[in-house]
Amino acid sequence: MLTRKASFPHVINNLLFKKNEPISLVHFVTNRCNARCSFCFIDFDNPETFKGELSINEIEELTKNLGKSLLNVNLTGGEPFARKDIVEIAKLYLQNSTIQSIYVTTNASLPDRIKIFVEEVSKFSPKTELGFQISIDDLPSSHNRVRKIKNLFDACMDTYKFLEKMSDNINPVVNITVSEENCDNIKEIYNYFKDKCKINSIKACIVRDEGVYKTPLDKKKKYLQLIIGLQNK
Ligand code: SF4
Repeated sequence: MLTRKASFPHVINNLLFKKNEPISLVHFVTNRCNARCSFCFIDFDNPETFKGELSINEIEELTKNLGKSLLNVNLTGGEPFARKDIVEIAKLYLQNSTIQSIYVTTNASLPDRIKIFVEEVSKFSPKTELGFQISIDDLPSSHNRVRKIKNLFDACMDTYKFLEKMSDNINPVVNITVSEENCDNIKEIYNYFKDKCKINSIKACIVRDEGVYKTPLDKKKKYLQLIIGLQNK
């Protein structure tokens, strides 16, 4: 038994033969965001960007029609906590689908909403694994400058430490987006997080080269070398 509703034989049968149900889902719950990162792929100046966000009723319908193999949903955006109904969205997945874990990608600028989310979702489904990918890309002042939110670095740290102290099935990780903004200092940034901030869980990804953001060609090879270097740490 994988979850209350997803059975191991059903999932394997779907993986090997039927291949008609998702195992994992990335749900962009909103394009809205209170940050304005210099490397963001979202076109915040285009009003079309904010059209088409699924309503809570549409999400309820979606969650009832995802089959019986879904093990994980990743709630992302934009900033997922910009949606005031994010707790309700998580509960709909838990109630109507077969997930056993929820991952949330966040800039951690709304720590009070994150705390409420953890408390409410944990109460609703204590065994569900909750993963939080907290975006921190640089030393404090540079991080705040690039993401254009005052004191954001401190909010990220407080959120990471708060989540780290919670139960074993709540797992925060700091994610460094490697971009032209930080690629010249990536080792210093990594060491700062590890040694000064005592972050135990750090990962890295390359900036998304799409939408309104295009990676300068000369930076791409450099990013690759840096990511390989970080993965080997
Ligand atoms: S936090 Fe994410 S969604 Fe928001 S502006 Fe930055 S990169 Fe874009």
